[in-house]
Amino acid sequence: MTKALIWFRYDLRLHDNLALLAASNFDEVIPIFIYEPNVSEASASDWWLHHSLKELAIAIEKHGGSLIIRQGDPQIILDELIQAQQIDALFFNRSMLPNDTLIEQSLIEKYSSKTIYVKCFDDRLLFYHHKLVTKKHTPYKVFSSYWKIAKLQYITFPQNKINHYSTTTIPSMAIDDLNLLQGHQWMKKFEDYWHPGEQQAIQKFEDFVEQNLSSYDALRDFPGKYSTSDMSPYLAWGNISVRSMWYRVKRFANEYPEHASAAESYLRQLAWRDFAYEQLAHFPALTHEPVRTAFNNYPWDFNEDLFLAWKKGQTGYPLVDAGMRELYETGFMHNRVRMVAASFLVKHLRIPWQYGYEWFKETLVDFDMANNAMGWQWVTGSGIDAAPYFRVFNPTGQAEKFDRGAQYIKRWVPELREVPLDVIHSPAKYVAAHQLSYPQPIVDHATARQLALDGFEQIKKH
Ligand SMILES: Cc1cc2nc3c(=O)[nH]c(=O)nc-3n(C[C@H](O)[C@H](O)[C@H](O)COP(=O)(O)OP(=O)(O)OC[C@H]3O[C@@H](n4cnc5c(N)ncnc54)[C@H](O)[C@@H]3O)c2cc1C
Repeated sequence: MTKALIWFRYDLRLHDNLALLAASNFDEVIPIFIYEPNVSEASASDWWLHHSLKELAIAIEKHGGSLIIRQGDPQIILDELIQAQQIDALFFNRSMLPNDTLIEQSLIEKYSSKTIYVKCFDDRLLFYHHKLVTKKHTPYKVFSSYWKIAKLQYITFPQNKINHYSTTTIPSMAIDDLNLLQGHQWMKKFEDYWHPGEQQAIQKFEDFVEQNLSSYDALRDFPGKYSTSDMSPYLAWGNISVRSMWYRVKRFANEYPEHASAAESYLRQLAWRDFAYEQLAHFPALTHEPVRTAFNNYPWDFNEDLFLAWKKGQTGYPLVDAGMRELYETGFMHNRVRMVAASFLVKHLRIPWQYGYEWFKETLVDFDMANNAMGWQWVTGSGIDAAPYFRVFNPTGQAEKFDRGAQYIKRWVPELREVPLDVIHSPAKYVAAHQLSYPQPIVDHATARQLALDGFEQIKKH
């Protein structure tokens, strides 16, 4: 009787999971998830984790097994289980996070000299940085060049196999005892918007492909249109296999050649996620240090009141406020609005991007260390392939362009629902005249823009 231990991490699903596939060759499979409290501090993302674990546990029970839940140091917990259950093999998927590399390496080294077979897999992404380098063997710095090569790579075709789960009773914590929902009452609202877990992920993606993929390219920048896939939280915890998404979109493009460019546009966005992990691998301080070190000399001007107004969606700029309120209500924000709201914090308020990173980390259900860090550094201009520093998004102009009919603004800023369309994007005078309970702009756009540019001029000297 051979026994394999599968350590679930950011791959909370049974379909097309490389570590789980390897385990299927064994007579008995023991599945475990280990929560590391000091690693994952993100509240909204913990809400997602809680529900994903519940779904995974139910799915494993349907196959006759039971998901073991533990909390603490994975090395100690895995060691103890390997000894106690006389495990023959340990399988897991690489997390792709810089802090985990040492643990992963040391597990492999520790057991490779013993009789246990240990293998970890590249399962989280589509492409892998050790395979994707320039002709000079350096990492790609520009996304368009990266994509040109990446899209030609072979991606492992999705596979599924039946596992035989162990029926032995092994001590486990209850998922509720991880206390992932503690702390913030506001997370309760997420239930109105999201259904985490593998089955929901698969169904939601299928619905997206059938109903929205054909118009993705044309509409994805318009936050009022519900045109993007909303797959990011499912991807963050691996409720869905990104390879299965890739092949589903490819199949769609073959079946409907007239929509091939919309399909390619979606695959390109998926590749941005890979590009973010590429950046994190080569620059592990991506989450807290600017890649372009000149930005350490930027004259930031942290102001607690302005920061609070931004977090609460009380800046007096309707698109920014709509986005920040959507975030707090649903744990999500449309990509275009993330760019505008983030730019507002960094450039209009001159608050260091790390504060925004932390707030998004706490409130996003799709929090992803690599994507979030790359997003903030991109907006700031301090990243690898970043927006030019002199591009200061005009929050009013962006609203006029991408939310012309103000559907998005009216959805999230109820105080403005009765404001006529011709003034809704710059509502200050109307708000004052009609005594609406909506704030006046907390900064003047032209003045703020100039101050931001002056700051960039200063760091150019370094
Ligand atoms: C400041 C800032 C912070 C961000 N923080 C996060 C984060 O914590 N987690 C996160 O998943 N994304 C983050 N993003 C990227 C992007 O906003 C989201 O991935 C996207 O809005 C998710 O919505 P969707 O699934 O409907 O995307 P779709 O448009 O349907 O795209 C499909 C998938 O492609 C990937 N993708 C799309 N756009 C990007 C992008 N710009 N960068 C990286 N991957 C992308 C995502 O995995 C997404 O689910 C951030 C962007 C910015 C500007």
